[in-house]
Amino acid sequence: MAYSYDQNNIFARILRGEIPNNTVLETEHTLAFRDIAPQAPVHVLIIPKGPYVTYAHFCAEASDAELVDFARVSARVCAELGVEEQGFRAITNAGEDGVQEVPHYHLHILGGRPMGRMVAKA
Ligand code: 5GP
Repeated sequence: MAYSYDQNNIFARILRGEIPNNTVLETEHTLAFRDIAPQAPVHVLIIPKGPYVTYAHFCAEASDAELVDFARVSARVCAELGVEEQGFRAITNAGEDGVQEVPHYHLHILGGRPMGRMVAKA
């Protein structure tokens, strides 16, 4: 699949420093920051700094260094925010059926309360 990346999506603007964010962790390839409208006591978004639209796009085209860095930052976020023991939900929405609002790949880490069913019934 050919992906078209919108350079003006809100997360691209956050990465360029045009919009402030509440950073949790930052590395060479990855940024983790608080969601602006948290749906749980812990709600962090983890994004690659590269221009990837969806999870599948990132997994298919990111370098090994970007992939490993993203995974390690995800682990550090879970550890540092203290959600590992009690549990958490990691979600990524993609495209229209996935109801993705921001077209820059991001992983939601949600925790601090019971997260309920994995998906709503159709
Ligand atoms: P999606 O529906 O694409 O999976 O999730 C997009 C998420 O981005 C939503 O949870 C929304 O609250 C969050 N979001 C949208 N705009 C901003 C923003 O400007 N700053 C931050 N920190 N989060 C945002």
